[in-house]
Amino acid sequence: MSYSIAIDGPAGAGKSTIAKLIAKKKGYIYVDTGAMYRAMALYFIESGISSEDSAAISAASKDVDVTIKYENGEQIVFLNGRNVNGLIRQEEVGKMASCSSANKDVREKLVELQRALANKESVVMDGRDIGTCVLPNADVKVYLTASSHVRAKRRYEELKAKNIECDIETIEKDIIDRDYQDMNREISPLKQAPDAVLLDSSDMTIEQVADAIIDLCK
Ligand code: C5P
Repeated sequence: MSYSIAIDGPAGAGKSTIAKLIAKKKGYIYVDTGAMYRAMALYFIESGISSEDSAAISAASKDVDVTIKYENGEQIVFLNGRNVNGLIRQEEVGKMASCSSANKDVREKLVELQRALANKESVVMDGRDIGTCVLPNADVKVYLTASSHVRAKRRYEELKAKNIECDIETIEKDIIDRDYQDMNREISPLKQAPDAVLLDSSDMTIEQVADAIIDLCK
């Protein structure tokens, strides 16, 4: 029988780092649902569709085929057969994803793919609506958060290490805007499921958070 761990929370809370670590420790597959929304968003950007044009987003979502494969434990996202892992991490794609993910047709398509994966294998799945919508019967549900200041600081350090020019105030503002959009959309807004365990990672190390979640699985 497959086992599922759902990790939801706002941007930059450390979900993907933690989820990957837990997947490795438990031998489950890691499903990064944000990457699927980003792949769709990349398609809309490349097709010249405005983030405000929900009719065009709905229509275009019918032409998009998003699939995933695993290579050496890493999730590779294919957009109409093309590996787009190297293109979806840009800020522009994240912003489009936050807008286009509010669209019902986009969500229906990706939720179906996510459920199919969890049906087949034991998964650690992270996103915004995994515990509330995608896997309401997940074995363990976690809502992982951290203060916007800590999240901005982590992102700032990450970009600085890659020699990318940035300022921490702008990053924090973008994080707050993205949280607002994700928490206030009509369909599947980001919120803590009633049966999810709240973890605030502001003052915790990656290992401490991962251990706390693995303890919940016992
Ligand atoms: O987690 P990540 O930053 O890659 O997600 C990009 C965007 O995709 C989020 O801001 C959110 O709007 C959307 N998303 C979502 N539901 C998920 C995962 C991501 O709406 N399960």
